[in-house]
Amino acid sequence: MKYIFGPVPSRRLGFSLGLDLVPFKTCSYDCIYCELGRTTHLSIEPAYYVTAKEILKELEDFFAENHPHIDFITIGGSGEPTLNKHLEEIILSVKALSKVPVAVLTNGSLFWQKDIIKAVSLADVVLPSLDTVSYDTWKRLNRPHPMLKLDKIIEGLKDFRQQYDGKIWLEILFVKGINDNESEIFALKSILNEILPDKIHLNTVVRPPAEANVLALNFEEMKRIKEMIGEKAEIIVDFKGEIIDIETKDIEERLIAILKRRPCTLNDIIYALGVRKTTVIKLLELYERKKRIDSYLYQGQKYYLIR
Ligand code: SF4
Repeated sequence: MKYIFGPVPSRRLGFSLGLDLVPFKTCSYDCIYCELGRTTHLSIEPAYYVTAKEILKELEDFFAENHPHIDFITIGGSGEPTLNKHLEEIILSVKALSKVPVAVLTNGSLFWQKDIIKAVSLADVVLPSLDTVSYDTWKRLNRPHPMLKLDKIIEGLKDFRQQYDGKIWLEILFVKGINDNESEIFALKSILNEILPDKIHLNTVVRPPAEANVLALNFEEMKRIKEMIGEKAEIIVDFKGEIIDIETKDIEERLIAILKRRPCTLNDIIYALGVRKTTVIKLLELYERKKRIDSYLYQGQKYYLIR
């Protein structure tokens, strides 16, 4: 499979089957905390990347087999999905094929473009991010494309709320010493009161970030922020899904697809593949010996990835 991956355990969406709509690290932002590394194609120009037909072919193959349970089909992947001009057609086709709810993971930075709002509105849940409403912090944290304007993005998010009846689960990612001070949070809170998301997901740096000096908040600090933001705020906690014990003949292929997209711990992989721990350990050992995967320690956890 080239464009679909998982299901992966998502802290926000349960078991999520990912659709990757843009080439690796094609994004309008270059966030210092990005788990995919630095952006290699910084763009705000939507272009014709993978088509609905190509995505559908892979999805049909996935559904034709004995597949694990999925909670969401999630449009996201290794860049900003709204940069794919086929987005509207892709969401329409996916919804015509399956009854599984469709979610879009986006940085929301292009929501001032009417075509993009129209396409994204077809999803059941939209998960935009907004880490700050301060221009200097935004530049430092998200390192946006130079043509982007923060006030336009915020207006785009407000307009989107007015037009969209589905769920908006907005994510804020906090980096220690950058967007976690009180004045930042209160300014953000007042804008959130205008955007009116259904949920506000509070996140911090969990996986190895693009820049080495990026630090996570601890649980107490996150709790303090949750209290400041109010009742819609939820700290995204570690996923606690059940293991789906199902035999699949494409475990290796799925393992490679997952590790190509993001670094994962052993437990992430076990949940994503839905197979026994011993099977995953054997595969990882084999692949490490063959030098097909790399591993490294981050905050006491061992992460596997394919570079
Ligand atoms: S975190 Fe998301 S928005 Fe930021 S650079 Fe990575 S892919 Fe782009």
